[in-house]
Amino acid sequence: MSAIDPMDAVAARPTAWTEARVVEVDRPTADTVRLRLEPDERQRHRPGQHYLVRLRAPDGYTAQRSYSLASDPDDALLELLVERLPDGEVSEFLAEVLEVGDVLEVRGPLGRWFAWDTTTPALCLVGGTGVVPAVSMQRAAVRLGRSDLLRVVAVGRAPGHLPYAEELAAAGATLAWTRANVDGRRAAAPTRAEVTPLLEGVEVAFVCGSARFASYAETLLQECGLAPDAIRVERFGPTG
Ligand SMILES: Cc1cc2nc3c(=O)[nH]c(=O)nc-3n(C[C@H](O)[C@H](O)[C@H](O)COP(=O)(O)OP(=O)(O)OC[C@H]3O[C@@H](n4cnc5c(N)ncnc54)[C@H](O)[C@@H]3O)c2cc1C
Repeated sequence: MSAIDPMDAVAARPTAWTEARVVEVDRPTADTVRLRLEPDERQRHRPGQHYLVRLRAPDGYTAQRSYSLASDPDDALLELLVERLPDGEVSEFLAEVLEVGDVLEVRGPLGRWFAWDTTTPALCLVGGTGVVPAVSMQRAAVRLGRSDLLRVVAVGRAPGHLPYAEELAAAGATLAWTRANVDGRRAAAPTRAEVTPLLEGVEVAFVCGSARFASYAETLLQECGLAPDAIRVERFGPTG
């Protein structure tokens, strides 16, 4: 069982484009695909970091997008979870065309700011596909026997629509459904009453999801008393 690499060491390593072979493809929800990739070179990442994926057409045209890693740093494979967006140039290809055995160009790990050091008490407030970096953080916390340091609140529309919901809940995450009444909890975004007790002792919060979700979550955390500079935000979608 190995601890996490120091951030300076992770950040100092240059990243270069490398090839990664698709070894597993499955579809955890109707709109998402989970990819497990075997890269030619696997640099150890910090939970929360992301990779660039580059697609190349026969005429040389390229398109690249960022995808967070769900993998634990000790996992030899890169695990991505991609939401298929209607007419999405890259996500539609990854979700509908890509098959086991195909090869992608990838570069990473990237993102120094949105990365958990596995020693600072932290809370993740994440929604939709924004759960992906929280999955990496939670897998690392479980492996290190430090689940006490990480609290996860994952928000989805309804059961069956949130990737990794069972895995997150089994490791102690709180699930909040916005459009389904479940186990006596009425459909709603997480409330101050639900989140405030989870912030006790927390020094850093990671917010991830759509721009709309991120804005709600950031405001909620501040209303719960967390200082703005303790909140790190990653937005997946367009900002407009
Ligand atoms: C650091 C980082 C990490 C990310 N991690 C993930 C991840 O783990 N999983 C994941 O699925 N995505 C992730 N994203 C988003 C991803 O990079 C792409 O933006 C997304 O897959 C859409 O690309 P596309 O080429 O399919 O769509 P495009 O062809 O670029 O856009 C198609 C249409 O969808 C809109 N759109 C673009 N992105 C989004 C979005 N995320 N939500 C809603 N509408 C959008 C565009 O405005 C446009 O109208 C991440 C983004 C960042 C910046």
